[in-house]
Amino acid sequence: MRYLIGRYHEIALKGRNQWRFVDQVKQNLRDLFGDYRLGNIRSVGPRLMVQIPDELSDEIAAERAALIFGLQNFSISYSTPRDIESISREAIKRASGSKARTFAVRTRREDKRFAMNSVEIDRAVGGEVQEALGFEVDLSAPELTISIEIMNDAAYVSAGKIVGAGGLPVGVTGRGMALLSGGIDSPVAAYRMMRRGLRLDFVHFHAHPLVSAASKEKAAELAAHLTRWQARSTLMLVPFGNLQREIVANTLRPLRVILYRRFMLRIASALAERSQATVLVTGESLGQVASQTLENMAVIEKAAAYPVMRPLVGMDKNEIIDQARLLGTFETSIIPDEDCCTLFVPAHPETRARIEEVEAAESRFDIPRMIDDAVRATEVARFWFPPRATNAATAKESGTQY
Ligand code: ATP
Ligand code: MG
Repeated sequence: MRYLIGRYHEIALKGRNQWRFVDQVKQNLRDLFGDYRLGNIRSVGPRLMVQIPDELSDEIAAERAALIFGLQNFSISYSTPRDIESISREAIKRASGSKARTFAVRTRREDKRFAMNSVEIDRAVGGEVQEALGFEVDLSAPELTISIEIMNDAAYVSAGKIVGAGGLPVGVTGRGMALLSGGIDSPVAAYRMMRRGLRLDFVHFHAHPLVSAASKEKAAELAAHLTRWQARSTLMLVPFGNLQREIVANTLRPLRVILYRRFMLRIASALAERSQATVLVTGESLGQVASQTLENMAVIEKAAAYPVMRPLVGMDKNEIIDQARLLGTFETSIIPDEDCCTLFVPAHPETRARIEEVEAAESRFDIPRMIDDAVRATEVARFWFPPRATNAATAKESGTQY
């Protein structure tokens, strides 16, 4: 029988919160395999194991398992009786398809009563594999690692460990509201926070119908893609065009971008409160564009009701682009669009906004009314991974008033 065996980062297992960590990994694994009937998920020492149902291929099992934050690595293992002949036979079978020339056997005994110790098992099985397949033993940098885990009920054998997603399981550190612009940076920022255990809701501000719906569609596509790591997501689409017009009509050019941003954070905070998120996440990076100076960031974040997390603040654009490519968001992010920020953006925005000046400019507005209007007009799109039939729906079809 085949098993998925995932190995936690052991550090995560120390301390009082380990049961939460383990429970969350289990729950997330269930969610990401929601279209298959998984049996009991066992947690044995620093690893978790679940039987792979027949209809689930190795490829899909590995592809999905690679999305689960909290696992350092995992393997597809086969159970075999607990005697050294059976274990060797299974190891040869697993390794026989491999193109590797060098290998190592690594055994872990959960059941220490087993007659041989780990090193003895490594040697015995290694000898058999070498003889049968002609591979060379290399303990320092083997091309193939054969893992053997001796449990109470059986031995589990796999050839090849697969690198896991690392990080902390989604949900274990809390809930956040990520501002998703449709650009390159914000999806990367969202990913990095999910990897630190935050479950995210997404919010996108658009100026449709003053501009095309392209930015909404991009945000929906990005939210759908990011859902791969958290199984279900909500994207809030906030019409922002009218509010921008009101700002344009009442504010001097250089301050407009600052005011747009402050209103975004206010509206995002109001939406966060409803979904019980306690932090906001943006893709800001220090000095990247005119609005992202220290002075501006400080003035902008004063409008937020929650802490603003900026996981990319110290990253270069090139590093962010590399990450976006790895994630698979880059191609979507570079599709041309006009989001609300390309509309009414002054040629020379303020780079050193002062809070007194900004507050004076905002004193002309009925801020609670503007936030309320925006929240009321917000549409909600929902996404699932594995996808459900309704997933493809863009905001237009699935839009429900918030
Ligand atoms: P990105 O690549 O994420 O679009 P950017 O380099 O274009 O970022 P800004 O336009 O200054 O930078 O935006 C900074 C952050 O503000 C974005 O990363 C995003 O988190 C948020 N943001 C900007 N515009 C929007 C929008 N229309 N909807 C939601 N969030 C936005
Ligand atoms: Mg942008």
